[in-house]
Amino acid sequence: MNKNLPLKSTAKIFNFEHPLILKIITLHDFISTGEYGNKYCLKLDGNPNHLGDILNLDWGAIIISEDLYYEEVSYPVIYGLNIPEIVSSGDVISVSSHGISVYYRKNSNSNVLFVTERCNHNCIMCSQPPREIIDEWRVDVCHTIIEFIDKNEKVLGISGGEPTLLGEKLIDLIKHCKNTLPSTQLHILTNGTAFHKIDYLERILQIEHPNIMWGIPIYGDTPQLHDFHTQVKGSFNKTVHGIYNLASKGQSIELRIVLTHSILDNIRNIMEFILWNMPFVDTVALMGVESTGYAKSNYELVWAEIEPYINEVRHSIKLMQCSPINVLLYNIPLCKLPIELHDIAV
Ligand code: SF4
Repeated sequence: MNKNLPLKSTAKIFNFEHPLILKIITLHDFISTGEYGNKYCLKLDGNPNHLGDILNLDWGAIIISEDLYYEEVSYPVIYGLNIPEIVSSGDVISVSSHGISVYYRKNSNSNVLFVTERCNHNCIMCSQPPREIIDEWRVDVCHTIIEFIDKNEKVLGISGGEPTLLGEKLIDLIKHCKNTLPSTQLHILTNGTAFHKIDYLERILQIEHPNIMWGIPIYGDTPQLHDFHTQVKGSFNKTVHGIYNLASKGQSIELRIVLTHSILDNIRNIMEFILWNMPFVDTVALMGVESTGYAKSNYELVWAEIEPYINEVRHSIKLMQCSPINVLLYNIPLCKLPIELHDIAV
């Protein structure tokens, strides 16, 4: 799959009445599976005029690749997409008056349900700066997407913002995933503070979802360093407490360390802190800063090239590789890494 495909495209839409969430099906897949109905958007390669009765079925919409004026049907007709390959069979899209957005790609291994823009932290390098808005409509959209996701999907991310701010609604979402996608691992990105009290965690664990990986950022080996990054006093204690509560319940944990300037200055201490105090975690992911959002506006404070620190990084990784903890590197160009670290660069 072309990883550079955008997630949005403008389009012209004939018969548009209101926003829709639909699953894409190609003519080939319609013929081989017989699946159709108003939850589907039939994607055609060319002129629809030769299709006859197929177009009289109850489709949610059709996509035609040619810039044709086509008014023979009562449902929306989408045409003039910037990039026709933006969607394939099995993908899930939303249709608005000015185009489409892709919510799920069947052939991608990094699909995420984006559940809220709100967060109780305000991290100096957040790539998706939180907004204090009412966006609970996102959860309803996510429930619809879950129904459309391929049953063989291996991993599905849940991210925000901070998903646990949804409270009960996150519990409902996890339940829905368990019932509808029982073999799909959930990878839930959270700052972990909600789990410093055991009650909420216990409510989630009552669902008995068989496969959740909790992705939790840790920004230091001291409260000062971590809280400096989150801009919330006391967040280190709550996050660490949350991590211990998760571990006490046998949960799988991936710690995420974003390689800011001050974290690189302390990388060896942080890695040793994890080795000594959290040897139960499954994975430690070292993440290059994504130069967008707050990381862009706080560039001077946040950014550092990895090269001057590479010996410290390499040493810390080698140390951790002597333990059962898996180490990964994300978002760092291979040309910035010594060859021996290439095999852990994602
Ligand atoms: S990085 Fe995560 S925890 Fe920090 S503000 Fe952004 S969404 Fe919240």
